[in-house]
Amino acid sequence: MRIRPEIAALPAYKQGRQAGADAFKLSSNENPFDPLPGVVQAVQAAHGFNRYPDATAARLRARLAERFGTTDDHVHVAAGSVSILFQLAQATSGAGDEILFSWRSFEAYPSLATVAGSTAVTVPNDADGRHDLDAMADAVTDRTRMIIVCTPNNPTGPVVTQAGFDAFLARVPADVLIVLDEAYAEFVTDPDAVDGARVLAAGHPNVVVLRTFSKAYGLAGLRVGYAVGDPRVLAAARSTGIPLSVTAAAEEAALASLDAEDELRERVAELAVRRDELAARLRETGWDVPEAQGNFVWLPAGDRALEVAEAFEAAGLIVRPFAGDGVRISIGEAESLGHIVRVAASVAPR
Ligand SMILES: *Cc1c(COP(=O)(O)O)cnc(C)c1O
Repeated sequence: MRIRPEIAALPAYKQGRQAGADAFKLSSNENPFDPLPGVVQAVQAAHGFNRYPDATAARLRARLAERFGTTDDHVHVAAGSVSILFQLAQATSGAGDEILFSWRSFEAYPSLATVAGSTAVTVPNDADGRHDLDAMADAVTDRTRMIIVCTPNNPTGPVVTQAGFDAFLARVPADVLIVLDEAYAEFVTDPDAVDGARVLAAGHPNVVVLRTFSKAYGLAGLRVGYAVGDPRVLAAARSTGIPLSVTAAAEEAALASLDAEDELRERVAELAVRRDELAARLRETGWDVPEAQGNFVWLPAGDRALEVAEAFEAAGLIVRPFAGDGVRISIGEAESLGHIVRVAASVAPR
């Protein structure tokens, strides 16, 4: 069989390592809290598994549209926001086209360009792990079809500011799609951070905002994420997607999570407090931790990334190394923080 050579060359998706019973799994930015009882009940009550789900996830779309002060056709739901990234790439970018993003960022970005048959163009993060939006705007060509802005940036942590994003938007041609990937939006406490809802309210049809129930809402295992933006763009994304991928259970869980928002927000606030405490303590050990606005912190370990990750794993802390670059540690159980700081201190840069 002949496989497209660029597909054969793709590295397999690398999942954060599973943890043994006595280890903390801090490798996939998951929510450490158990699902809320109301959410579990809603999933159990989702009856009729012999029937296909509602292909349009109409109830969830209506709820989300209401929250964003828009109409249902401005919302698209899929099996995780990573699916929507692939859909938008397919919908906008073919052979010879370019998809632009900052690097290092989310591991899925390089492959979605390849799968669409287009070319990934990357601009390095600045020394603080931030997007260099000026350099990104400079890198736009007449072949650029889609730009991904990841805020807070996974895995380095900093946000893009509202002022920075507005200036960037003004420099990008109006027919280039800008995807604002806000997978960690709910954890952001920096008042200067860009807010996708505000950008959309200001009326920018070339911006699509991506959010997910996987991280703050703790539904990573059920696979549900969404996009808010221009109906024409979202309809094109939907056309490329595999129909019926969002299960009834996922839709029910997402609806129940929106009902339980106050409780979930308390958990998110608790995780943000742990994050700030951990980042501060890690800086005291000598690590130059960039601004952390997601549910994770970044150790810029450079060439020592694998060795530093091994030290954590030896201590029962499963973290996520990126060879040659750094180590990402998700915010998990409160009891893990002291262990993280102890190991980090033992391998701190001198
Ligand atoms: C986790 C993550 C996603 C997608 O998560 P889903 O589980 O597919 O909704 C998207 N973007 C970034 C940057 C992420 O870290």
